[in-house]
Amino acid sequence: MSNRTLAILKPDCVRKGLIGEVITKITDDGFKVTALKMVKLTKDSAGGFYEIHKERPFFGELIEYMTSGPCVPIVLERENAVENFRKLIGATDPQKADEGTIRKLYAESIQENIIHGSDSDENAAKEIGHFFSRKELLEINGF
Ligand code: UDP
Ligand code: MG
Repeated sequence: MSNRTLAILKPDCVRKGLIGEVITKITDDGFKVTALKMVKLTKDSAGGFYEIHKERPFFGELIEYMTSGPCVPIVLERENAVENFRKLIGATDPQKADEGTIRKLYAESIQENIIHGSDSDENAAKEIGHFFSRKELLEINGF
């Protein structure tokens, strides 16, 4: 059980001016922000990130959406980070997400669902590496 996960504030979150509000929800829940940046994904980079979904019918639209504007990857720390963060963001489909979760509060649809959270410790480590180099993490926060 790792204490680290990767969040992405997706392009709809940035467009709607919700960066501050969503980060406040995250830190109020006990997570610490340990690295953060704004990036505009290319199709290649978004395709690599979501490689696991490349055969799914929604893949093309997912890549369009994720490259439609800047997004904000964030490395978060808390005990049992992956599981606790998935609880905080809620189900993929906001209509099925529990009350009070970030997706229930802010998301429009199963595609435009505001935020990403890693689904396992192994994927968290890979996904953090997608956005932050080891050198960068060491320089930013000594890890
Ligand atoms: N997605 C979609 N249609 C679907 C399922 C997923 O557009 O039927 C998008 C949505 O933005 C989701 C992302 O693809 O967050 C990755 O899907 P996954 O099943 O991994 O959901 P998550 O782990 O983000 O809850
Ligand atoms: Mg997923």
